[in-house]
Amino acid sequence: MLPSEADLQLLFAQLNYRFFDGEAPDCRIRYNERFSNSAGRISYGSPLLIELSPKHFRQYPDALQETLLHEMVHAWCYARYRDTGHGARFKRKLRECGIHSIYHELGNARPSRESSKRYILRCERCAFEVLRRTLPRNAASCPRCNKSRFDSRYPLTIYEILEMRPAGTTLDALQAARKGRA
Ligand SMILES: [Zn+2]
Ligand SMILES: [Zn+2]
Repeated sequence: MLPSEADLQLLFAQLNYRFFDGEAPDCRIRYNERFSNSAGRISYGSPLLIELSPKHFRQYPDALQETLLHEMVHAWCYARYRDTGHGARFKRKLRECGIHSIYHELGNARPSRESSKRYILRCERCAFEVLRRTLPRNAASCPRCNKSRFDSRYPLTIYEILEMRPAGTTLDALQAARKGRA
């Protein structure tokens, strides 16, 4: 069974203590059922947001901690250096965490550039979410919490997507689906 979101937050705290001297910045950690070909993603907001694919980790539970650590290294690099890449600083810290490949369970798949959408606008009340290529020009509120008009009680929080981690290829997904059926 997957750890609950509260368990994930606890795991985050443990990993933070063990590998980062407690210096990884606070992150909100959530599952996102809507991820289909992405294992996780980190988005910039206040706080940072790490999202994990429950679909993916139900299938590969052992990969969860490593994916969380990978995203935590991003959060740490971001807090320290405003660095969001997979460069030397990132790799050094990742190695300190005992991870030697930035691609790990994905074979030789490269970090994905699958989405050109850079922002998530999300309602913290009902979890309505929309992906955007650019920042909206006007203030927007949640269209689900109030259908008829702008409502400042339900603002949309903006997160900037820093990274999507691919969860294999469409071929893998197809084979997994076939195996499931067999
Ligand atoms: Zn990464
Ligand atoms: Zn809403």
